[in-house]
Amino acid sequence: MIQSTGPLHMVTRFAPSPTGRLHVGHAWSALLAMDMARARGGAFRLRIEDIDGTRSRAEHVAGIVEDLRWLGVGWDGDIVFQSARLDRYEAALRRLEGMGLLYPCFCTRADIMASATAPHGAEGPVYPGTCRGLAGEERTRRIAAGEAHAWRIDMARAAERAGPLTWDALPFPVADGARAQAVEARPVAAGDVVLARKDAPTSYHLSCTLDDAAMGVTHVLRGDDLRSATDIHRLIQALLDLPSPAYIHHPLLVGADGRRLAKRDGSIALADLRAQGVDPRQLADDLRQARFPIGISLGRA
Ligand code: GLU
Repeated sequence: MIQSTGPLHMVTRFAPSPTGRLHVGHAWSALLAMDMARARGGAFRLRIEDIDGTRSRAEHVAGIVEDLRWLGVGWDGDIVFQSARLDRYEAALRRLEGMGLLYPCFCTRADIMASATAPHGAEGPVYPGTCRGLAGEERTRRIAAGEAHAWRIDMARAAERAGPLTWDALPFPVADGARAQAVEARPVAAGDVVLARKDAPTSYHLSCTLDDAAMGVTHVLRGDDLRSATDIHRLIQALLDLPSPAYIHHPLLVGADGRRLAKRDGSIALADLRAQGVDPRQLADDLRQARFPIGISLGRA
């Protein structure tokens, strides 16, 4: 339950990946998360999810900061950069490995796509488990030979170890006094997801879960597209003895074509609205009232 007073100090966050400029959907999400905490005397944090060394760019970080400031979004404390926290992720990874829950995966994207039997989950094809059964000697030999590999979680084994799990969901829009519902976490549906990529000692799932805990985030507000990720994050929390925040998933904004907003729709980038002379206070006010620019609307949950 959301408390306006009491022992719980609410902490929310906005966690963009610096792979492009922010669009109206990001702006809406950031404003909602900021307002939610501020209305209750809590804190709002900013985290830059820049573990993707090839797609994350410093100029996008500067652009995101500029876009947020322009819109009137301010955050508490320092910005957290995931690229500065790789040693923490690595330590958690080794802990999970020590529990016997990880295995190296040498497959290429093409190998996985080519697997005819691969069912599709929310994040693309579910990994068919090709490398799960490799013998220990072969793993050691291929790693020693310098073959590129990711680390995947043996999901069935991890879920069995953790036992049945639920996460706390609050309905959107968030209202005072709203009661959290316990939602059953079903991480197994996602298959053996990657916890460390070939090019980084972590992945979105691992670093996001660790950082939400490290930053003391009590309420994660994010888009509906990440609902199945929440199942995975809940499992990682259980395995690593991390607290589990409450989750609020908001609908995604869609364009006139009914497709979710993406960075390809240049016209709704905040930088472009700014260049067009849009008044940021009016824009923020409109977004707060769920009044979106022409052609943009709330998608169905
Ligand atoms: N970096 C993620 C994104 O931009 C954030 C996901 C999250 O809020 O957990 O989609």
